[in-house]
Amino acid sequence: MDHRLARLRAALDEAGLPALLVSAPANRRYLSGFTGSYGWLLVAPEAALLFTDSRYTLRAAAEAPGFQVSELANPGRPLATALAEAARERDLPRIAFEAAHTSVADHANLAASLGDAVELLPCEGVVEGLRQVKDAAELAALRRAVAITDAAITAVMPQLRPEHSERQAAWMLELAMREGGADEIGFPIIVAAGPNAAMPHYHPGDAPLGEGRPVIIDMGARLDGYHADLTRTLVLGAPDDKFWAIYDIVLEAQRRALAGLRPGAISSDVDALAREHIAAAGYADSFGHGLGHGVGLNIHEAPSLRRAGPDAPGAPLQAGMVTSIEPGIYLPGWGGVRIEDLALVTADGHEVLSMAPKLRA
Ligand code: ZN
Ligand code: ZN
Repeated sequence: MDHRLARLRAALDEAGLPALLVSAPANRRYLSGFTGSYGWLLVAPEAALLFTDSRYTLRAAAEAPGFQVSELANPGRPLATALAEAARERDLPRIAFEAAHTSVADHANLAASLGDAVELLPCEGVVEGLRQVKDAAELAALRRAVAITDAAITAVMPQLRPEHSERQAAWMLELAMREGGADEIGFPIIVAAGPNAAMPHYHPGDAPLGEGRPVIIDMGARLDGYHADLTRTLVLGAPDDKFWAIYDIVLEAQRRALAGLRPGAISSDVDALAREHIAAAGYADSFGHGLGHGVGLNIHEAPSLRRAGPDAPGAPLQAGMVTSIEPGIYLPGWGGVRIEDLALVTADGHEVLSMAPKLRA
């Protein structure tokens, strides 16, 4: 954890921020190792404090040896009071806070307690920026989560029958991931059969998987806080020509995007490699979501591989990033096809992490 803290301090220094109050759970875990559900970090050049309450003080001390644990109590010693003490003791004139993870009510409490002595500065994406590039321990956890996910779908796929409902299939997949060693499922499993597969984030219901129609399965294990994310589209029985036509367009779109995945490539350009292939095939309006997203302590995190917009230009990819590559085509009334793999950006290109079989190589 020490090198993560060092990187954060360098980033704060570069941004001219004297201290950062960390409230996002994934950022807290990333920097400290503390896995509890309640807590804040205060990081300054000479300080690394972890505020939590009595439910977690022992765990925090064990998991976050690099931090000084400071016990909160509500009522008695809420965060606002403890933070004001820390600012006074350490002579901190300004403290940055994570604007995207701080409620208006919390901000008001903090501001009232800190008074005029300490200025609160909103900031965004400081720790998230560091988390984009995975270190060795993170990559090891991600690889294990991916392996559990791959093994689960590979084992369950031959057991699926047309009369199974989407829900039954989702449960079989969840069971296989848990039996394979997952701590949890990383997100609610999607099993979408037939026309339901036209909804990219469908929730499984009573519909049977059926025969000769697309079934989209999107799933991922969570292990030690890290997430896998995998989508396969399959058909029970014989697919028709339309299915193969759509499937091959999506597969080729994914292949093209992967071919462009390397350090220095601009995220929106990689999206375009897949998107232009789908558009050229006549399905420009049938691929609404972005091509991919980073995964790690969150299932969706930076970087984002999508079309560039006025507020969100593309950014160069870096070695050590792990991203999904998940083009899809969705046709209301018919269904859809999505194929998703995780890939690691390496020094000279990329490595596809997901190994679960596809209908075509
Ligand atoms: Zn997914
Ligand atoms: Zn995904």
